[in-house]
Amino acid sequence: MSVLSVENLRTTLRLDERDCHALREISFEVADGETLAIVGESGCGKSLLAMSIMGLLPSVAAITEGRVILDSVAIEALPEVRMEKIRGARIGMVFQEPMTALNPVLSVGEQIAEPLRDHLGMGKREARTAAIALMEKVRIPSAASRYNSYPHEFSGGMRQRVVIALAIACHPRLLIADEPTTALDVTVQRQILDLLDLLQGEGKMGMLLITHNLGIVAGHADRVVVMYGGDLVESASVQELFRRPAHPYSRALLASLPRVDRDLSELASIPGRVPSLPSMPDGCRFMDRCPHAMEICHKMPPPVTLEGTPDHTVRCWLHVNGGDNAS
Ligand code: SF4
Ligand code: MG
Repeated sequence: MSVLSVENLRTTLRLDERDCHALREISFEVADGETLAIVGESGCGKSLLAMSIMGLLPSVAAITEGRVILDSVAIEALPEVRMEKIRGARIGMVFQEPMTALNPVLSVGEQIAEPLRDHLGMGKREARTAAIALMEKVRIPSAASRYNSYPHEFSGGMRQRVVIALAIACHPRLLIADEPTTALDVTVQRQILDLLDLLQGEGKMGMLLITHNLGIVAGHADRVVVMYGGDLVESASVQELFRRPAHPYSRALLASLPRVDRDLSELASIPGRVPSLPSMPDGCRFMDRCPHAMEICHKMPPPVTLEGTPDHTVRCWLHVNGGDNAS
């Protein structure tokens, strides 16, 4: 069963009295127990997509089309009071910088106990015991004696563990992790990602893992969605994407992956950068950087087509009509 289903989502930003389609026709699903990675460079719309799902868009932005369905319930147009409840209980969130999610003047234990009281109706003592159990679960050493510590007394990695304990406190159906390890050093990154894997394997929960790191995708995701300029350009299982990337952007991303057998100076790079919102082209948004761009790419956005396996989709004119456009 799918935990999250995003259908034809369009998020529009009002900039300089003009509507810019920051996300266009985004569709994907996250199944129970599955980790779906969303990958792309900065500015590709990954975080905006997460904000759209969580109902945390800034005032200049709005979902103008499509649906966000969490556990069979459409949530894209719910009033904020209801979304607040959903965010606390049904969707857990882990962001890049743990300090932004934590209250600096409240002890970590009390912060973890708070949603247990608010959303699960636990009494004070019960919530304290459950919070300590959660701290143990995310492997915070000497959990009970650290209940009264403040966030600044923890290292970055330990703080992220507190955030994860908070995120999973109410057994969410969906965990959204937006660059959860970018601010941490490599060893700690690995520990945090392993912890997320473990927790996800234990509970019935889907995970949306947003990252610009393909190594993380390879090691921790089941399926992957590649985004470029607010478009979903390709989606496939991780194996399939690494074996048979179809979109020129995915290919370029994979070509820029560091390999142990390759010198760093030999890395392929993708010249150019993601277009800014007001200057997004009407056609394919990758056309300025694409070595295969054709006339039609400038005129019309490419449609989504299937590529070999039923769960492999690509959005590129090269793949329309079995590649007839490639000639
Ligand atoms: Fe390149 Fe055209 Fe495909 Fe866009 S649609 S990726 S410009 S070939
Ligand atoms: Mg981001």
